[in-house]
Formats: sequence, C-alpha cells, structure tokens
Amino acid sequence: MNDCLFCSIVQGHTPADIVYQDEDVLAFRDIHPKAPVHVLVIPRKHVRGYRDAEEKDEALLGRLARAAASIAESEGTGAGGFRVVVNSGADAGQSVDHLHLHVLGGAPMGWPPWPSG
Ligand code: AMP
Repeated sequence: MNDCLFCSIVQGHTPADIVYQDEDVLAFRDIHPKAPVHVLVIPRKHVRGYRDAEEKDEALLGRLARAAASIAESEGTGAGGFRVVVNSGADAGQSVDHLHLHVLGGAPMGWPPWPSG
C-alpha cells in the first residue's frame, strides 16, 4: 500500500522503535504512548482493519495475538496485567487503516471505556 504509514514502517521508509519482528509480524512503540508500555503489533502485509481480515488470515490473526502476549511479557507487564486493544472504525477511534493491536500496560487502567451508568 503506497500511502499507508504502517506499510512505510514495514518497508523501513518511516523510522520506528521496533521491539519484535518475524516473517509475518512487526511490533514497535507507539509514537504517542497512552500508557507506560504501549506497543503496536501489526501484520507485515497490508490488512486495512479488523473487519477486513479474511478466513485466509486466521493463522495471521493468531500470530498477532500470540506476539502481543509475548511482547507484554518481555515488556514486563505480563504478571501485573496488560490490555490488548483493536480499534475498528470511527467510533472506536481508528486513525491508521492498517490492522494493529495495541498492547498497553505498566499501570492500572480504567474500565469500561464508555460510561454506561
Ligand atoms: P488507532 O488510533 O487505533 O488507529 O492507533 C494508531 C496509533 O498509531 C496511535 O496510537 C498513534 O499514536 C500511532 N502512531 C501514529 N503514527 C505513528 C508512528 N509513526 N510510529 C508509531 N506509532 C504511530
């Protein structure tokens, strides 16, 4: 994808603080962290978002999920607790159209994200 920021990071054209990579997955620190630990886990291939993952992407989704858990451990948040978030669409605040998992941790976090009462 020519105009995709995260594809540019995958290709090495845009710098990023990479914490993990393998043949399918790349993970790097969020440039505007929302928690003491904030890592983005993305597929190397362009998938626009969570709704766009297809049946053929099932194994890739599993790899992303396992990488997120592994990164939470290596970042020291495994035991204390961490959160894995996928923002999908405008209401959720998705701002980059390349599938990404946020790994957040390092401090207690509030829940729920929207006040129901
Ligand atoms: P979302 O809002 O769920 O689409 O998440 C996109 C995330 O990408 C935001 O948390 C941004 O802070 C982050 N981001 C944007 N540009 C960069 C960049 N060049 N390097 C690292 N993270 C970025």
